[in-house]
Amino acid sequence: MDERVRLLNSEPVRSTARYVLYWMRANRRASHNHALAFASQLANDRGLPLLCYESLDGNSNDRLCTFVLEGIPENARRLRALGAGYVFSLSDALARLAAEAACVVTDDFPTLAAPTGLTAACYGVDSSCIVPMSEIGGRQYAAYAIRPKIRKLLPRHLAPVSPVQLRRSFPDRHFEFQTEVAEADIPGLVASCDIDHSVPPSVSFHGGAAAAESRLEHFLVHNLHRYARHRNEPAAHATSEMSPYLHFGHISALEVALRVKEHARRHKLIADEFLEQLIVRRELAFNFAHYAARPDSLAELPEWARGTLARHAGDERPAVWSRDDFVQARTHDALWNATQTEMLRRGVIHGYYRMYWGKKIVEWSASCGEALATAIHIHDRFALDGRDPNTYANIMWCFGLHDRPWPERPVFGMVRTMTRAGLERKTDVEAYLREAGTA
Ligand SMILES: Cc1cc2nc3c(=O)[nH]c(=O)nc-3n(C[C@H](O)[C@H](O)[C@H](O)COP(=O)(O)OP(=O)(O)OC[C@H]3O[C@@H](n4cnc5c(N)ncnc54)[C@H](O)[C@@H]3O)c2cc1C
Repeated sequence: MDERVRLLNSEPVRSTARYVLYWMRANRRASHNHALAFASQLANDRGLPLLCYESLDGNSNDRLCTFVLEGIPENARRLRALGAGYVFSLSDALARLAAEAACVVTDDFPTLAAPTGLTAACYGVDSSCIVPMSEIGGRQYAAYAIRPKIRKLLPRHLAPVSPVQLRRSFPDRHFEFQTEVAEADIPGLVASCDIDHSVPPSVSFHGGAAAAESRLEHFLVHNLHRYARHRNEPAAHATSEMSPYLHFGHISALEVALRVKEHARRHKLIADEFLEQLIVRRELAFNFAHYAARPDSLAELPEWARGTLARHAGDERPAVWSRDDFVQARTHDALWNATQTEMLRRGVIHGYYRMYWGKKIVEWSASCGEALATAIHIHDRFALDGRDPNTYANIMWCFGLHDRPWPERPVFGMVRTMTRAGLERKTDVEAYLREAGTA
């Protein structure tokens, strides 16, 4: 466990306290959660109960807020059943709760700002990666570099987290700032929040651990066996669609990997392609966001990519669209517009077409800086799996991160390009356009 934990401040553990506080920010779940296990162990060691706290934590539009709220009733039920206290607050209650805590445990998640101003010790726990970020030993520049390290360390970490056993139950107590969330109240609660009401909830994703588990079950039964063949065909719907749940921690990559491996063993399937994405690609993204000073900056690109993009900065673009045109899916390309429409309606884009989506923003923006800002802006606002290490690493991939030089082309230089003709050759673009309702 130690390799997952780091002290985030220099405050002492408070000697007179009512509980240990676990602030669930990125791993909003009651099982397969190393941070929850660590907080429980601290509580048991000190003879204290455990209190778990969740808030909206910056998820400030109807789509993100609804997804978080949909996870709350299940978390409250499951955590209280373990004997922990559970508080959800629509307003920020961290400082007030921390004032009575021996210490605070939270999720060590590279794209969330570390808490400041706490007057008790605060520990960050990496419960997002299967192989702890600290064990990889520095920044890795491509999948081929991190893959052998992960393979070596994986057997030790690909194991269930021991179930939480709390020695002391949290006493019956109501905090005045606490909000009890019932499923039926969610639209009203969202409407009452002072947030951006212009982005509606996703038409296809419902938040929460139970929803994550049933989507995983569906994937195991219907799609794992055809994932390797069809994962790049959007019309086949063969991917897991776990990314929103992984981002909000409603399910852990660890649990997904264990379930996938077990299902593959029982049904004699090969799950390597899926595990490559879930573990190697995802943890490469966490490695990037963990070590990069500014994961949202072109300065983090490899030197060859920065150089070649700079040499082509003055190239004439085949089209130039503004951020607003991109947001509103108003480019000249029906396929690109359909990918953006998927983002606007569902809050994700199919993985293969998402590459096209990103590459075309690079090609059709006035500059690389503007393209990066547009891609991040759209993810921040509309993506259910946005603001994640995967967001930054993959948007930066469109500019050459974790990739190699390719034959030189206008605008991109030696950075890999993608064309609509290529997608038409390899996938059923027409079927995708029909589904998007834009054909
Ligand atoms: C421009 C661009 C932006 C992206 N933004 C995000 C983002 O904001 N959040 C996000 O989670 N992913 C992002 N991705 C990566 C990828 O598109 C999504 O993870 C994937 O499409 C999610 O769908 P799924 O859950 O059905 O994936 P599956 O194919 O079922 O894969 C299972 C899991 O593996 C991981 N995974 C899959 N592909 C990748 C990848 N290329 N890199 C890292 N991990 C991967 C994800 O956690 C995913 O949920 C982006 C890709 C591009 C090209």
